[in-house]
Amino acid sequence: MSTIDRLLEHNASYATGFAQGRLASAPAGRVAVVSCMDARLRIDAMLGLSEGDAHVIRNAGGIVTDDVIRSLTLSQRLLGTREVMLIQHTDCGLTDLEDAEVADTIERDTGVRPPFALGAFPDLEANLRLSIGRVTASPFLPHRDAVRGFVYEVGTGRLREVS
Ligand SMILES: [Zn+2]
Repeated sequence: MSTIDRLLEHNASYATGFAQGRLASAPAGRVAVVSCMDARLRIDAMLGLSEGDAHVIRNAGGIVTDDVIRSLTLSQRLLGTREVMLIQHTDCGLTDLEDAEVADTIERDTGVRPPFALGAFPDLEANLRLSIGRVTASPFLPHRDAVRGFVYEVGTGRLREVS
């Protein structure tokens, strides 16, 4: 059985007795969370979120890219979110990489150099501050006064705010 088959089995039992089918699409908590895709981060579990509570936008590193700004723009302008919570984490794979080295390897393997930045960063807290700055500087976001950044410690499960 593949992993996806196993996930589908779980979904069948999840859907049995499902009672959250009438929620509004606008998040009840009026918050958007941006985080790394790292498998050790269970955003719902660590923050106590349920269906309908928050937007969760994830990518490698939890960095604020143009596409994250796109999602936040729709989140705030169309779906009423007001606060932005950024979560990056200790032991992130992107802190050990060099963009150019990975791009070189991909180019050697495929003949094509990736046109996108891979987003590697050496300093976690500096990167988080940069991400906060990208949100607060975006002219497309009407709500930029409640943007906060956190380091999730994968060893303890704790969030630590970076100001
Ligand atoms: Zn990560």
